[in-house]
Amino acid sequence: MIAVLKKNTTEQQMSTLVDWLRAQNLDVHISQGHNYTVLGLIGDTSAIDMDLIASLDIVESVKRVSEPFKQCSRKFRPGDTVIDVGGVKIGGGHFAMIAGPCSVESREQIIEVAKSVKAAGATLLRGGAFKPRTSPYDFQGLKADGIELLLEAKKETGMPIVTEIMNAAHLPLFEHVDLIQVGARNMQNFELLKELGRTDKPILLKRGLANTIKELLMSAEYIMAGGNYRIILCERGIRTYETYTRNTLDLSAIPLLKELSHLPVVVDPSHATGNSKLVRPMALAGTASGADGLMIEVHNDPIHAACDGAQSLTPEQFAETATKVLQIRALLAE
Ligand code: PEP
Ligand code: MN
Repeated sequence: MIAVLKKNTTEQQMSTLVDWLRAQNLDVHISQGHNYTVLGLIGDTSAIDMDLIASLDIVESVKRVSEPFKQCSRKFRPGDTVIDVGGVKIGGGHFAMIAGPCSVESREQIIEVAKSVKAAGATLLRGGAFKPRTSPYDFQGLKADGIELLLEAKKETGMPIVTEIMNAAHLPLFEHVDLIQVGARNMQNFELLKELGRTDKPILLKRGLANTIKELLMSAEYIMAGGNYRIILCERGIRTYETYTRNTLDLSAIPLLKELSHLPVVVDPSHATGNSKLVRPMALAGTASGADGLMIEVHNDPIHAACDGAQSLTPEQFAETATKVLQIRALLAE
């Protein structure tokens, strides 16, 4: 349930109402916008007399929120959420360009890629240290050493870093990681989501291979229910019957997610297509669809990449893509 308060409501009046609602065993989330203050009520609201609340002098309107996701709903928080990732803002007009290799392979590789993507306009460095691979015989990532190398690249370039977590027991290794990725395969690992909800780390939550938009938002809700509101959603393609592409990029998910939720949305055209030739057009389409950022795999030697070489751009290709993306951004701002 949400209650929208009138413009001239005083702090005192609001806290009297909030205290009363909390005494009814409800969790109250306060969202202060420019024009209105919205109270989001979570818990068993069935016994609450909506008419009574609506009749209060300070209340503009009361509505039940029928969707199962509450805290990530735009009804709860009408304004865009802006997430600060190590000093780089994402959302509410701040566009993030996340780039880097699928996996960290060596010091030389990650430093070289980090420098080149930064020069081309990237704002965050990605790189997998713990890799979720379909085959147990494939490269599984450099693990803790990979995170160390990312931290070196961060020191060298000043770029905040994002890397994937697969096991909550690894959390201590992520202490200096700026943005923790939950990959597609773990989108519904609810115990991991709950654990991340207890941290204050920004989380990049990728949509599962076969998950609906509602399920993605419910996973965000899991993290928020624990008290961590710093979530960025990521559309990375879903599995369909098509085989020419690795996945099918669901472009309509972007405006939809932004309508349903206040959380920032980024697009990953690399995993969505699996084909470096399709990355640029889909990066542009994702940008034009209103995304708050892109995550693109870039490798200094794609043919010899330990993972996902076929979808990786060279630094030069990334630079060309980034230039075009900025042109689309400028058009959208007109
Ligand atoms: C990744 O970003 O490297 C990755 C494994 O992505 P996804 O979880 O979307 O497959
Ligand atoms: Mn990858």
